[in-house]
Amino acid sequence: MPSAYATSFRINPKTMQTVHSVTELRQLLGAQRQAGKRIAFVPTMGNLHGGHASLLEAAKAQGDYLVASVYVNPLQFGLNEDYEQYPRTLEDDQRVLEQAQVDLLFAPTDEEMYPNGMETSTKVRVEGLTDILCGAHRPGHFEGIATVVSMLFNLVQPDVAVFGRKDYQQYIMLRRMVTELRFPVEIVGAPTVREDSGLAQSSRNRYLTQEERTLAPQLYATLKSAADKLRSDGAQVGEVERWGFDALEAAGFEPDYFEVRCTDLSVPRSEDEGLVILSAAWLGKARLIDNIELASLSD
Ligand code: AMP
Repeated sequence: MPSAYATSFRINPKTMQTVHSVTELRQLLGAQRQAGKRIAFVPTMGNLHGGHASLLEAAKAQGDYLVASVYVNPLQFGLNEDYEQYPRTLEDDQRVLEQAQVDLLFAPTDEEMYPNGMETSTKVRVEGLTDILCGAHRPGHFEGIATVVSMLFNLVQPDVAVFGRKDYQQYIMLRRMVTELRFPVEIVGAPTVREDSGLAQSSRNRYLTQEERTLAPQLYATLKSAADKLRSDGAQVGEVERWGFDALEAAGFEPDYFEVRCTDLSVPRSEDEGLVILSAAWLGKARLIDNIELASLSD
């Protein structure tokens, strides 16, 4: 005699399914596609927080079958980076995803993703966007992301995929990738979710000590002050970049960069362009990234 729980579990059509293999994924998605469903997709590395939840909510509104992936992609980590320490919390993540009414979770193994070995398999590089800003400090990082997202797009074949604007460079790179490689997928950029302090939510915030946590909101505060300097005080781009870098250093960060760019990440040439200020800075073991988008300065 099955328990009441097992019975309700089986008859509930909204229960999320988790698959670990490409074969299972393709079978389940094939049926949904045949049924004419619009597939929305949110790729993640797991250890889900409010930022991911907002992406799932945005994706839910964009399609009628919601797919999420949880995969800590080794190809996007450098040799001395935090691949080993990166938090893996699949059971907790499954609960968050169920709550967000995800229909299907793809949580593959490395063998499923890189059956021919990671080093020697095909890579995707988005010219001009992979070696600037974070790319200059993390060689191979964006190539790793472009490669795994291409693969995930080929496996899931979503109609729409949602990415966070917190990882602004990643978002812009993926937009260009789908345009240039003609992936038939719409890329949606969701706003950054922050703690009350202004600190952007991130899985890497858990590397911060208590003392560092009180300092961490200074990253966004500095970006906001830099935006004010550009907008209201008429400061020059170079001046603001130096000011931001120095301000972060003085606050106890070790900044990698603090740069003002056009929204497509090219170097600004006129005042009439929309701008974004981006920064990455170390605080102890955590490398924090954040950005602030500004409309045209002449608005
Ligand atoms: P990750 O699991 O860190 O690879 O992130 C998966 C997706 O969540 C990416 O599209 C990120 O840009 C997005 N994301 C991460 N943190 C935030 C945040 N605080 N607000 C909005 N989106 C986020």
